[in-house]
Amino acid sequence: MLTRIHTRGIDEAALWDAVGAVEDPEIHRSLRSLGMLRDARAGRGGRVHVEVALTTSRCPLRDRLRDDITAAASTVAGVSSVEVSFETMSERERLALAQRLREQRATGIGEHTQVYAVASGKGGVGKSTVTANLAVALAARGNRVGVLDADVWGYSVPQLFGVRRNPVALKGLMLPVEAHGVRLMSVGFFVEDGEPVVWRGPMLHKALEQFLTDVHWDEPDVLLIDLPPGTGDITLSLLELLPQAALLAVTTPQTAAQTVASRVGRMARDMRMPIAGVVENMSSLACECGRHTALFGSGGGQQLADELDTELLGQIPIDAALTASCDAGTPVVASTPDAPSAVALAEVATRLPVVKRSLAGVPLPLSVVGTG
Ligand code: ADP
Repeated sequence: MLTRIHTRGIDEAALWDAVGAVEDPEIHRSLRSLGMLRDARAGRGGRVHVEVALTTSRCPLRDRLRDDITAAASTVAGVSSVEVSFETMSERERLALAQRLREQRATGIGEHTQVYAVASGKGGVGKSTVTANLAVALAARGNRVGVLDADVWGYSVPQLFGVRRNPVALKGLMLPVEAHGVRLMSVGFFVEDGEPVVWRGPMLHKALEQFLTDVHWDEPDVLLIDLPPGTGDITLSLLELLPQAALLAVTTPQTAAQTVASRVGRMARDMRMPIAGVVENMSSLACECGRHTALFGSGGGQQLADELDTELLGQIPIDAALTASCDAGTPVVASTPDAPSAVALAEVATRLPVVKRSLAGVPLPLSVVGTG
């Protein structure tokens, strides 16, 4: 008798509402609006069964989704247990989902997205490391953040974020991979582990263009682009595609690194690109005795900032915790927030100015970007 009372007691419309409002953890839209909720039924004894269609059978976030659905369904009066089954979307459903996302104008880089093109004169100065950590620090401050890894030959974003899966592709629309609260897209997702990218120029250009137009970036507050080092073709065409991008230059204190970085700065000036600032990486080596050694010289960051008429936003020390975090796939600002490099990187994230093309050279406080 009790069972029947429970069954009758469950309001299926309320169940649909509760479960339908659960967000897909990767697309950040409700299951109902995405057409992913196939069924939500009340059974006997307060049991309910929910059926959800996923974009891919390999959906890595299914456990999280199961937990969220169970929690949502459990809020409905009379529900005692929740069974969730996952199916994979049919081709028709995937097509409909891609269309829905496009109709919601949810794709792309928004008018209000602050784009930072992170550049360096040469490789190995920590440009990707700085990009990854700024992204995670900005996301932790409540911003919606994307990282486009455009360092096509030296891609390292998958490694830095510990991601070993491909993005889901939905009929011409790719979903970025999310890790540590940041949406990611990288050429590295499309090549076998550790393989070099052997695509020719036009193919790379096409791929990068698609990374901007056919990826569900979902209008982030901030998009950081990890550019290849130098002033090559990829950099130039990306900056043409993203005229709103502001340059963030990364250099070591070494004169040689600063000299080549200044070429990038001059390119930015020639392209009338706003400059957000300079980050000096590997500034000094901190010893346990409290002494700091300028292993790679000193002054390069400030010199570059002066030359580009911009701010030196921070100096990141050489830090073993940073190297270890890169290898472990969790940016140091998340894995070891007290490490000297993490503190310095988090500080740079708070100092990043909002720079729009029309406001070239006029730094505004970050609070305009997000909730920070
Ligand atoms: P780039 O993108 O400029 O080629 P990376 O970000 O890939 O450079 O960094 C090159 C190497 O230097 C990586 O192994 C990274 O872990 C290490 N590294 C970068 N910055 C620091 C730092 N401040 N302290 C210690 N190691 C660092």
